[in-house]
Formats: sequence, structure tokens, C-alpha cells
Amino acid sequence: MTVESAHGATHAVLNQVPPFEDVDLFETNAALRDAVKFNQPALATGSLSALGRLAGSAAMQRHARLANIHGPTLHSHDRFGNRIDEVEFHPSYHVLLGAALQHGLHGSPWSADGPSHVERAAGFMLFTELEPSVLCPVSMTYAVAPALRANADLQQTFAGLLASRHYDSRFQLASAKSAMTMGMGMTEKQGGSDVRANTTRAEPDGRDAWGERYRLVGHKWFMSAPMSDAFLVVAQTPAGPTCFFLPRWLPDGSLNAIRIQRLKDKLGNKANASSEVEFLDAMAWRVGDEGRGLPQILAMGALTRLDCSLGTAGLMRGALSLALHHATHRMAFGKRLVDHALMRNVLADLALESEAATAFALRLARAVDRSEDTSTPAAEREHEALMRRLLTPAAKYWICKRGSHFAQEAMECLGGNGYVEGEGEGVMARIYREMPLNSIWEGAGNIMALDLLRALRGGPVADAIAHETRAAKGAHPLLDRATQRLLVRVQDGVDEIDARRFARDLALVTQGALLAQTAPAPVFSAFCESRLDGAPDAFGQLGATTDFAAILNRAAAH
Ligand SMILES: Cc1cc2nc3c(=O)[nH]c(=O)nc-3n(C[C@H](O)[C@H](O)[C@H](O)COP(=O)(O)OP(=O)(O)OC[C@H]3O[C@@H](n4cnc5c(N)ncnc54)[C@H](O)[C@@H]3O)c2cc1C
Repeated sequence: MTVESAHGATHAVLNQVPPFEDVDLFETNAALRDAVKFNQPALATGSLSALGRLAGSAAMQRHARLANIHGPTLHSHDRFGNRIDEVEFHPSYHVLLGAALQHGLHGSPWSADGPSHVERAAGFMLFTELEPSVLCPVSMTYAVAPALRANADLQQTFAGLLASRHYDSRFQLASAKSAMTMGMGMTEKQGGSDVRANTTRAEPDGRDAWGERYRLVGHKWFMSAPMSDAFLVVAQTPAGPTCFFLPRWLPDGSLNAIRIQRLKDKLGNKANASSEVEFLDAMAWRVGDEGRGLPQILAMGALTRLDCSLGTAGLMRGALSLALHHATHRMAFGKRLVDHALMRNVLADLALESEAATAFALRLARAVDRSEDTSTPAAEREHEALMRRLLTPAAKYWICKRGSHFAQEAMECLGGNGYVEGEGEGVMARIYREMPLNSIWEGAGNIMALDLLRALRGGPVADAIAHETRAAKGAHPLLDRATQRLLVRVQDGVDEIDARRFARDLALVTQGALLAQTAPAPVFSAFCESRLDGAPDAFGQLGATTDFAAILNRAAAH
């Protein structure tokens, strides 16, 4: 017997779970399907099914793994010493980004024949389960596209390209390409939350076919997706912070003076590049009036914050599916993990959180649809605009805050295998590393809670919450009481010191009211009993009377 075969005979590999692949992520996600039906009943879901199959395929999972283990590389110069500031990605990154654009997850909801925001939101969640980091430029393109309306010349030139589904990875002038993506540059070394502190300066430089032209001198400390075709950046003019369109290539075919100093070495989000950049008299075109940069950024931020909520809900569903899959196939102490009472409690509790996040994030996407649509009756449009304003920070705060906790618990369901990366094959580890990002970028937790307090001053909020939760009135005494308490606090006013607690409670009441309308009774009642009667802490503490079988059957990924 050879040495090799002697080793081969030491043991048989037993009790390891098969890979979770070639799964239709839309058809197996009852919570998502029901949330889509609730928010847009007439939507034909054929393209979501197609995306669900694609995102769950082994072939695309392989691309996700490769794009993450072969991260981007910065080439500051070519071999002759010329500055090129080009970032090179693995081919799998381009396959993934191409698929995201093909499914209209970027600027397409803003075009006349594009998908609704609800449809795009559901697709964004499905794609997140496959690979979240390539969605960074996709999300920024979605958020920036409507902002360009403030410069009619740019809008006319680029709106079609921002909605085009024909991804074009070539590094050249955007107007000569079949599609484009855009990034955003606000954060500087001295401050990200406080954009007013930006020091980048803009000097007028004439006018041309793209509008008022300026020269930018300064830096950005975080500017993700630096191979985007253009960026919306903030710089100071005498009137204050102002928004600018900053292209990588200039109309004369030369490279704009944007120097990529370095790529960030990040905890997760490995397939995506995030850069530190300097502007050396870079050419940029004004978008909107001088000094109006902050409100414009807030409008864009509201859309990327929606995507943070969608992305986290998608990551939660991805982690839940892996945990359920593992527990279904793994045996311990003579039976499947999923048949152990305490594991059932943990999995069911994760399923409640995942479903609540899904319902909440899609509700927010409906608020974008209904508030943007000029044919929405005036009173409804007003309500939707106010809900959009309130629920954006509440959802971003609470869903993202729960994300890391969720990922840790889902990882634990896989035992030691959950903690292992294995050349990118350990998807749970990738999810865990990705989770905190949605909570930090585009406004960390405190900033969201403070923004919610500002939103309380934006209209008849108590009436709007009462209206929003009316359909769930009487469905569960705990929800009724929590809603009542919330309304009293809105009327009394919320102090800064209580802002996080208020954001959490608004989120929980909204989630409860949504689940009353979209989820089966066992899910709804378990949610109320575990989250509205005292703050939720560790997962897996659902009461003994919970209908675990109903919750787990609904959540099952197969
Ligand atoms: C991977 C990644 C990619 C990114 N990509 C981009 C990008 O493409 N473009 C871009 O512009 N930015 C980008 N960012 C930056 C990101 O948006 C900022 O990091 C974020 O807004 C926080 O800003 P900061 O890092 O300066 O932290 P700070 O603003 O210093 O905040 C630090 C902490 O203080 C808290 N805080 C701040 N003010 C208050 C207050 N008044 N009261 C209580 N607490 C407060 C915050 O909540 C936070 O927890 C990216 C960040 C990451 C991690």
C-alpha cells in the first residue's frame, strides 16, 4: 500500500453539508414574494424569478468568490511612467457588475420604461445574496441619477447612459460608452458625517456644453468605485458646499486630474475598490446652485440609505438560508440540528428578523415609488413623502444595527465552518465582514437617529404614523400598546439622548404593523411577543408557545 492510499484510508468524510447552490432565491423566499405582492400587487415577477435563479446559481457564486479573493489592484502609472490612475479588477467583477446593470438595479427606475423602485429593490436584495460589494457603484448610480436633473445639460447627455443595461467596462469618455456608472465623493479626512467641514475648493473656469465649469483642488478620504465614469462630489464655493459632476475623462479625450493615492484595505467589501483621491485642478461641472450642496446630498443620501437597508435585509436572508441549509443537513447527538429545540428557537428568531427587515425595506421602496409618481393622489403622495422621510433613517438605523448581530448568530449555526473563509468558499464569513459597512457608510447609527429627530419636525408625524399603522390596529395588544406609546412620545417630543431608542421603537412598530398585513399569523404574533414586550437582545429566546414549525417552514430555503 502506498503512503497516499494509507492516508486516504484514515477516514470517510461524513456529516458535512452539500453546497448551497443552484437555488432559486426568489421562489424560495416567501417573505420577499409576499412583501413584493403587498407593495405592488400587480407587478409581474418574471424578471425577479430570472434574477433569483441567476443569483443562486453555482456559476455566479463562483464569480462572487473569485471577485472577492482576487481584489482590485491600483496602477498609478503605466510602465513608461505616465500617470494612469487605473484600477484593475478580476474578470468576475465585470461579470457581476454587468449582471447587476442588465437587471436594472442602477439608474433604470428613473427612466420612463424602467422598473418600479419596489421591483428594483427586490432585485437589489436578491443580488446582495449573491455579492454585495459590486453593488456599491450600482447603488451610487441609482442615487445620483435623479440629482443630475439639477443640470439640464448633463441630464440630457448622461441620463440615458445611467439607465442603460449594457454594461461597458472600457476606461474612456463616458459619452462614447454604452452605459456608465457614477460614484460619490463627500467624505474628507477631517469629517464624513459633517460634510460642511469639506475643504476641497472649487474655482469658476467658464461655461461650456455641460454647464458651468469649475476647477477643483482638494481631496476625498473615501471615494469608492474609483473606476466609475464620473462622481458627484462636494466642494466649497464662496456660497458654501456645492455639488459637482466630476468625470474621469474630459470631453477632449484627456484624463481628468484625479489622482488615486491608495486603495483602502478594508475589513470586507473586498471585490469593490474604495480609494483615497486628490484633485489637482480637476475639471468639474456644477450641479444645482452654489451653496445648495447639502440638501442635494441629503436627497441622494436618502436613496443610498434605502439601499443600506435593502442590502442588509438581503445579507440577512443570505445568512439565514445558509444557516437553515446547514441545520437541515448536519447531524448532532443523533438527529438533525434543525430538529433540536434550541436550534429551532434560534433559527425561527433569525427568520422573524429577516422577514421583518425585508418587509420594512420594501415598504420604504414603495414610499419612493408613490412619492415620486405624479399620478399618486395628493393626500397619499403627501403621506408617502412623509413616511419616506421618517422611515429612511429609522430603517437604516435599525435594520443595519441588527445586521452584524444577526450575522454572528447565523455564523454560529454553522459552528466552526461558519468562521472559515476557505479561499472565499465560506460565504458566511464574507457576509459577516460585510455587515458593519451598511451601518457605517452614508451616515452611521447616531447620525441616522439624529436625522430621524429632524424628520419629526417635518410634518404631522403622529397622524402619519397613526395612518400607517391603522390597518394593523387590534391585530395584537402588544402592537397596539407599542404604537400608542410611540405616538405619545412623538407628541411629547424626543430628546437627543433618547434618539436611538426612539429610532428602534419606530422601526419595531412599523415592522409589526407590516407583518400584521404580510406575514402568516405565527410569524406576526411571535414577532410582537419577542420584540414589543421589552427590547430584543440575544436571538433564540422565543417563548415555548411559538409555532416554530410554521415559522421554519415559511423560511425554508428549499
Ligand atoms: C467601505 C467604505 C466605503 C465608503 N465609500 C464612500 C464613498 O464612496 N464616498 C464617500 O463620500 N464616503 C464614503 N465612505 C465614508 C463614509 O460615508 C463615512 O465613513 C461615514 O459617513 C462616517 O464619516 P467619518 O468616517 O468621517 O466618521 P465621523 O463623521 O468622524 O463619525 C464617527 C462617529 O461619530 C458619530 N458622530 C458624528 N457626529 C455625531 C454627533 N453629532 N452626535 C453623535 N455622534 C456623532 C458617528 O455616528 C460615527 O459613529 C465610505 C466608508 C467606508 C467604510
